[in-house]
Amino acid sequence: MTTRKIQKVLVANRGEIALRIMRTLKEMHIRSVAAYSEVDISMPFVRYADEAYSLTGKEARETYLDIGKIISAAKKSGADAIHPGYGFLSENSQFARETERAGIIFIGPGAETIRLMGDKTEARKIVAGYGIPVVPGTAEAVTDLKEAADIAGQIGYPVLVKAAAGGGGKGMRLVTEESELESSLRGAQSEAASAFGDGRIFIEKYILGPRHIEFQILADLHGNVVHLFERECSIQRRHQKVVEETPSLALSPALRQVMGRSAVGAARACGYVNAGTVEFILGDDGNYYFLEMNTRLQVEHPITELTTGLDIVREQIRIAEGEAISMSQESITRRGHAIECRIYAEDVYGNFLPDTGTLKTLREPAGNGIRVDSGVEAGSDISVYYDPMIAKLSVWDNTRENAIEKMIRALDDYVITGVKTTIPFCTFVMKSAPFRSGKYSTHFVQENWKVDDMDPSSLSQEALDRALVVAATQLLDRDRSSFQPRKEGEKRSHSGWMDGRFER
Ligand code: ADP
Repeated sequence: MTTRKIQKVLVANRGEIALRIMRTLKEMHIRSVAAYSEVDISMPFVRYADEAYSLTGKEARETYLDIGKIISAAKKSGADAIHPGYGFLSENSQFARETERAGIIFIGPGAETIRLMGDKTEARKIVAGYGIPVVPGTAEAVTDLKEAADIAGQIGYPVLVKAAAGGGGKGMRLVTEESELESSLRGAQSEAASAFGDGRIFIEKYILGPRHIEFQILADLHGNVVHLFERECSIQRRHQKVVEETPSLALSPALRQVMGRSAVGAARACGYVNAGTVEFILGDDGNYYFLEMNTRLQVEHPITELTTGLDIVREQIRIAEGEAISMSQESITRRGHAIECRIYAEDVYGNFLPDTGTLKTLREPAGNGIRVDSGVEAGSDISVYYDPMIAKLSVWDNTRENAIEKMIRALDDYVITGVKTTIPFCTFVMKSAPFRSGKYSTHFVQENWKVDDMDPSSLSQEALDRALVVAATQLLDRDRSSFQPRKEGEKRSHSGWMDGRFER
């Protein structure tokens, strides 16, 4: 097989992940192209790119989800590859197909693999055929209530009603007894139909005391498949991750090896190429089951990079160029412990509802072992148009205990004003007994985050302290910016946009 050097990549995404991908492109001497919505015109990723094209429009569906506009921007720029990042079109098989049809390399798996693994019922069938355990449930989508009730009865309650095309926790309902089945089924069907244009529903056993454990895999065009160990992603709200760590305390070396083999098997079963993630649910009885495969770069990939020392985006590009993975499974090792906290604009005291607004103050933590993947700056808007993520804060240290202490310090050093954030919740997690002991499940939030029981006076004291710190730093900033040393006779010149550095 011949390899083909990629010269220019259009990043079909925005925010932190666009910037993160472009940084690696720069290190590889590959030119980067941004394609941005009107809302994002002044975002850092647009400035960072070597070239930028407007997608005219604001809504995701007329910009980052518009296949035609993105491919035409790629053609106009002369990009020879597209990196889809995560979210938006990253798991859209039609996008992958049309990209390849336009003679442009899609940095990800083949369109058919994306289609198959994007359908949870198909994916379950494929991996089960390979001898990998899947959660007990229906092989096909269920249509009528009688059939659903029979199946749920056989599996045994509680069961989960899930959307075949599901993602982002949408179209999922927990059913604890038969009387709830009909309304849950109908609710999940209509939610799935409106979110994914596909209302097919299936039923799965609800695993008790579950932990979400996923394996990062890499696969090349030559048939080599390796895994880069696991990530523990059990701290979730609304079935969506907020805090991740690696290694997971729930895995013994023997279980890790078995699950790693299953992850590699799942990738082989669907002819996978490029970076992907195989998600498992681990029950409190030690049994694990395949949940789904994400056919793209994952939000939480930095903790794998911190512990293995690999750059997953660089691996993705090399694989897309047709290079073989040079590492054997045995040669891939990891060191220390890494944790990621997702910093979202959300009201953690108000049901984790998204918040919007302008970031008035933004001070990021720094120092040894700290990585901030951010796509915003002070003055940036967290708008209603897209996901309310502000940044991902990841830490690495030699032990889990040290990594937790480092995360607490980094969260404390973070100053964000203008929007509510998940920082107080993440700090709570780090200090909580279940997290520190490593004995926690996906029920962490419902079992531990009891806002009504929190002492309001302690909350307001914390809020007061933070407000004081912020006010003081703002005053300091103002003082500093009004202090303008200037040599006698020196003329002040504009820098940045005006001096042509950002010309493209
Ligand atoms: P989505 O693709 O919508 O994110 P997933 O199938 O990946 O849905 O599941 C999301 C989360 O829901 C999991 O991380 C887990 O917390 C919970 N979950 C999913 N399936 C089960 C199950 N069978 N038993 C218990 N919890 C589950």
